[in-house]
Parts: sequence; structure tokens; C-alpha cells
Amino acid sequence: MSTQAVAEAGAFIAGAAHQNGGQPLPITNPADGRVFAEVASATAADVDAAVSAAREAFGEWSARAVSKRGELLAAGARNVREHIDELVPLLTREQGKTLRDSRIELNRAVETLEHYAGLSKALRGAFTPHLDPNTDGMVLRRPLGVVAAIVPWNFPTTLLCNKLGPALVAGNTVVAKPADTTPLTTLRFVELLGLPPGVVNVVTGTGPDVGEALVTHPDVRKVAFTGSTKTGERIMQLASGGTKRLTLELGGSDPLIICEDADLAKAASAASMGRFYNCGQACLAVKRVYVVESVADEVIEAITAKAKKLRIGPGDAEGVQIGPLHTARQRDLVADQVSRSGGELLCGGGAPEDQELANGFFYSPTVILDPPHDSPMATEEVFGPALPIWRVRDLDEAIERSNASQYGLGSSIWTTDLDRAREAAERLECGYTWINSPTKVYDELPFGGVKSSGFGKEHGEEAFDYYTDSKSVVVRSG
Ligand code: NAD
Repeated sequence: MSTQAVAEAGAFIAGAAHQNGGQPLPITNPADGRVFAEVASATAADVDAAVSAAREAFGEWSARAVSKRGELLAAGARNVREHIDELVPLLTREQGKTLRDSRIELNRAVETLEHYAGLSKALRGAFTPHLDPNTDGMVLRRPLGVVAAIVPWNFPTTLLCNKLGPALVAGNTVVAKPADTTPLTTLRFVELLGLPPGVVNVVTGTGPDVGEALVTHPDVRKVAFTGSTKTGERIMQLASGGTKRLTLELGGSDPLIICEDADLAKAASAASMGRFYNCGQACLAVKRVYVVESVADEVIEAITAKAKKLRIGPGDAEGVQIGPLHTARQRDLVADQVSRSGGELLCGGGAPEDQELANGFFYSPTVILDPPHDSPMATEEVFGPALPIWRVRDLDEAIERSNASQYGLGSSIWTTDLDRAREAAERLECGYTWINSPTKVYDELPFGGVKSSGFGKEHGEEAFDYYTDSKSVVVRSG
């Protein structure tokens, strides 16, 4: 079947397009609000077909030499890279992000697969000699089986590849479920990977029906989930049936602290970039800024000036830096959080005035000064281009306020004092702290949240621990 057929059929199972039996899902361009494609939704029977294909492929895939799995993954990544020019506009059309951001995302997704392909030769167990006379111990790493990879719409391909890389190298097979609003790039991406039939399968549909059918399928051994905390908690309940393994990468409300001795220009740039990138729809976005009183005015002015300058428009238009929000619902949610928050509105606070953007889901970059500490800006995850800034007395207050959140995903501190930086890295309750650095995620380092931001790690060699079981073997000789 052709590529178009895979998209319309709605599923990629056992290496080919699979015609889903459910209702058509409309796919909307967030820049103009128009439906431009329809994709058939999976039924429980389609989910079963995908899991069965993955289960069937598991024996042969897990029995291959680990280096061979790495080679196949690297070849697949290469083929995707050769088709990036085709994928970039597709991702922009269904997700809304700028063409530049789509290219960055797709390149990062491929790099992550290449990273794990390279690590395939480093996947090792352990050997413990002489536990007793003539007795040695071995620790084997065994793949888990069929992994369900459920991802949201903000970075459909990188979030999937964070799971595919370690899962596949470790010998598992996968059934992926993208968000029902962004299935097209994922279907094509997985088709381009060209892995043996059944090794990676994709089903399309909404969370409560298709997602839950996947999570509760008895042959799924692990659920790797990225999405909201509310859904993560629901999946945690569902996965208890069958005692499935679970990693949860959930919501966040990352603080960025600016001390009086920081490079203020660079700190302001990192705050602006960290908040407005991808139209604010990133789990690791900078969602709260705490700046020490004595330098606050300069920082506030710099961040506000940057927000005002951002060029907003359709993701595929020349020179645009910030696209629309992904859905009308997402835009309305952010507008509601801003309107309930109070504080001093320094810029934005509504849709742009340009009538040409009226049908898209646009929201102007927004900066709010000193909203109450119990307002939505401080206590909820704000998944859009709205940045609150608070003046604080000192680092102590900044850290206390940073930690006064249900979330614990990432955090940043800007200071030239090494002792302060170290103290912040130790005290901030989260899974990642950037010191004088933009909020870039590295494949080399493990990433995962604490508190309501979830548990388990993606990236780094540590990710293998979440896609394998270790098994002890005792060998007595003589
Ligand atoms: P969401 O939880 O609504 O949906 C995420 C995925 O889960 C989608 O594929 C959806 O169809 C599926 N789903 C929904 N309900 C389900 C159910 N009952 N059973 C099984 N699957 C279900 O998330 P969203 O609002 O679309 O995405 C944004 C959220 O994702 C934000 O909270 C963001 O912080 C979070 N996120 C976290 C990370 C991270 O790494 N920690 C990365 C990106 C996004």
C-alpha cells in the first residue's frame, strides 16, 4: 500500500498498512482550524492485532544479536533522515509548530535512535565470581516483551523515539499510540524505519478507548507513557491489573531562578527561549521565573521585550518564530489560566489582533508580573506561551517557592557563584537542573521527574533498566 494508504488506514501493523475498523478521526491544521485529513480510529480488535503482531515478532527480534538490533535501528534512522524534508511540513501541518522547530524535532528523534543504536554494544549484564567455592553468579538482562508506547501531541516523534531506542535495542517489540490529533507523522516515521514486520506497530485513536485497550491488553508487559499527570495516574491504576511495568513522564512546572550575580542577558534569553519554544507546549518548558529583587527590573524588561518581538503566525510562513497552540481547547485553557491568575500583565494576554490569524488557535506571548503564589500560574501546569515572573528576596526564597509545587520535572539556576549553584542543584526537587544553561535535553543523561511529574528514566544508559528485567543465575561447577 502507498504512504497515503497507511495514513488513511490509521494503523501500521506487522510491517504494512492495516485498515482500522473505527470511526474516522479529523486531523486539523492548528494554523487555520481546517480539517485536512481523516484517519480511521482503531477498535479493540485492531489493538489486539497490533499486540499480536508485536508478540509474534518478539521471539525472533529478542533472539537476534544485540549488535544486529543496533544495526537495523541505525539503518532505519538513516532512512528516516533521508526523508526529513518530507516529514517536516507534515509535522508542522498536523501539530502547528514552525518548520524550523519541526526540523529540530525530527533531527533530535533520529539522533536518539542513533544514540541507542550505538549503545547496543554497551548493553551488558554482570558476572560475580566465587560466590562460594566453585560457584559463580551472573546477572542477565532480559527484555520484557511487548511494550506499549503512548505519547502526546507536543513532540510526537522525539517522545516516541525516547522509548523506541532503548526498548528495541534491549530486545522488546513495541505498539505505539500517538495522540489522536497527531498520528500522520508517526505513521510515516515508523513506516520509514523499515524494521522487521511486527517489531514496531502503530495504532491510532483516542486515549479512553484505544489507549486503555492497549494498556489493559494482557500481552502488554510494559507501558511507557508520556502525557498529563491526570492520565498518568489513570494508567497507573489500569496497569496494576497484570502487574505491568510502568514509566511515567508527566506534567511539569519548571522554575528558573536568576540570582543577582548572574549573566542577566543570557538568563533572560534562556527564560524566553525556554518558555516560548514550541509555543510553550513542552514538558520541560520554563514555566515560572524567580528573580532576586535587586536585578529584577532589568530582567523583567529584557524578558518582556523579547516576548513582544516574537513573530507569531502559521508555522509554515517565512520568519515565523511562534506558531499556534495545538488545539482550540488548549488555547482556551491557557486563556482561562491567565484570566484567573491576576498579577500585572506586561504583554500579551489574548489572541493576536491580526485578522488573518483569526481562524487559527493563536495566543500572543504573555508575561505576567507577580501573580499571587496560589494562582493558576504558580500552582497549575501552564501549557502555552504565558510566563509568570516573581521578585524574590534571595536564593533561599527562590528555592522554597520553586519546591512549593506538586511537580518536579526540571529546573534552572543562573548564578556565577559555584556554591550557590551547587546548593540549588542539591535542594531543587526535580529530575534535571541546568546551571547557566539553556534547557536542552541530552541523550547521554538520564531524564525523568519526581513527585507528580512521574517516575522512571528516559535517555542515558539508565533507560535500559526500564526496558529489561535482570535475572540472577548461579553456576556451580566441578
Ligand atoms: P494526555 O495525557 O491527555 O495524552 C497523552 C497520550 O495519552 C495521548 O496519546 C492520549 O491519547 C493518551 N491517553 C489519554 N487518556 C488515556 C487513557 N485513559 N488511557 C491510555 N491513554 C490515554 O496529555 P496531553 O495533554 O495530550 O499532553 C500534554 C501533557 O504531556 C502535559 O502535561 C505535558 O507536561 C506532558 N508531557 C510530559 C513530558 C515528559 O517527558 N515528562 C513530555 C511531553 C509532554
